[in-house]
Amino acid sequence: MIDKATPTSLDPENWSAFRAQSHRMLDDMLDYIQNIRERPVWQAIPDATRLRFQQALPRESSSLEDAHASFMNDILPYAAGNAHPGFMGWVNGGGTPVGMVAEMIAAGLNANLGGRNQMPVEVERQVVRWMRELFGFPETASGIFVTGTSMANLMAVLIARTGALGMSVRADGLQTGQPRLVAYTSDAAHVCIAQAMDLSGLGTAALRHIPVNARHQIDLGALQAAIDADRQAGLQPFFIAGTAGTVNTGAVDDLAALADIARREAMWFHVDGAYGALGMLAADVAPRLNGIERCDSLAFDFHKWGQVQYDAGFLLVRDGARHLEAFAAPAAYLRREARGLAAGSPWPCDFGPDLSRGFRALKTWMTIKVHGTHRLGQVVSETCRLARVLAARIEAHPALELLAPVSLNIVCFRYRCDDPDRVNRELIMDLHESGIVAPSSTTIDGAIAIRAAIFNHRTGEQDIDALLSTVLSLGASLSTR
Ligand SMILES: *Cc1c(COP(=O)(O)O)cnc(C)c1O
Repeated sequence: MIDKATPTSLDPENWSAFRAQSHRMLDDMLDYIQNIRERPVWQAIPDATRLRFQQALPRESSSLEDAHASFMNDILPYAAGNAHPGFMGWVNGGGTPVGMVAEMIAAGLNANLGGRNQMPVEVERQVVRWMRELFGFPETASGIFVTGTSMANLMAVLIARTGALGMSVRADGLQTGQPRLVAYTSDAAHVCIAQAMDLSGLGTAALRHIPVNARHQIDLGALQAAIDADRQAGLQPFFIAGTAGTVNTGAVDDLAALADIARREAMWFHVDGAYGALGMLAADVAPRLNGIERCDSLAFDFHKWGQVQYDAGFLLVRDGARHLEAFAAPAAYLRREARGLAAGSPWPCDFGPDLSRGFRALKTWMTIKVHGTHRLGQVVSETCRLARVLAARIEAHPALELLAPVSLNIVCFRYRCDDPDRVNRELIMDLHESGIVAPSSTTIDGAIAIRAAIFNHRTGEQDIDALLSTVLSLGASLSTR
């Protein structure tokens, strides 16, 4: 054994000093999370701070202490703030201390989850088995961690495309006069569904955006009519993407009805459950997802309602063989063996476009194992309850107007006044700069809305109070300006 580090090793020369510094860094992050309520949700980045990140490539070494000080002074205070209980913008998770330390130990191992005969891959397979169980999928279902639902949706389109056109499409591409495939989703679907059509080479023109009903769900009659019209025109309907929790209002499509249509029409039924699918963890939300257990593929994120650190997207596919057919690509240097480090085929890299992959499974496994699905489900229920509390208080207040029905945990509303679009847009920017609460904005039936999406397990009624009182006081002063 060699007991001396090689001269080029990047390990510390002084391990005990490094250890002490590492402990300080961990303590700083624990302090950050423990005391996060005392901070502003968000604050503007000073010009001088931005400038400090426009320096030339460092040629020489410097200390970890200095880099850590830069992090504490210049980076940490100016993050988006989604760990903060007052953060209600977009669809963002808050993360947990358990997820944080899980990320740290995963980084220590630096496992590459592309494949090979190693226990980290078994951790990912454990999460796949758990998700099969949660969503009522069969033993033959496959699953894989990806960056996020945008990637998972793209992969689902590719799997459905290969299913519809046969494996020859992987060699021939889309230039050999195959049937023209058409996909369907609602007007309220996330833009990444259209992007998936673009990136897959099928084109966004082959995606039909079906109107929604008053509850912002896909209109089933309009969907059937569009499928019929496309068949009449000689096209091949192949893919329906339902949404479980739309990004605008949190609406859940009638998934059971979509499953019926897909079966009758012999189409692939995909569900974009980016945030809503994990509503399955909560006894009071799970019935709303009825039909999700029948989809062919399901995309969702642990990093939203699941509270796992970024990034932790996931794709579950009912028929694992179909999944493999779309992606597995043999290569001599990735040869599998019966034993040794190259055993254990298929590998995660056979289920998607990524070869090198990080250990996203560990933070997810540890979050689920430590907190359990019961507690994680309570968080989901509580965020929905807070949304209902917020909606009721908006409806009871003459100066406020609810703009969409509250389906899960997203509330769209506005301050009533003469020039509502201008005032509400200004109001949202002012809210951000207040540092108290940070909702985002959207457009509902043409009107600018304040959109409060409650995802964070730290958010409580006091934050709902803070949102309402700040909106009311800012609204009053803006509308008289
Ligand atoms: C967040 C979201 C996406 C995109 O997921 P990413 O993880 O950000 O890639 C897609 N669809 C819906 C409904 C979402 O909420």
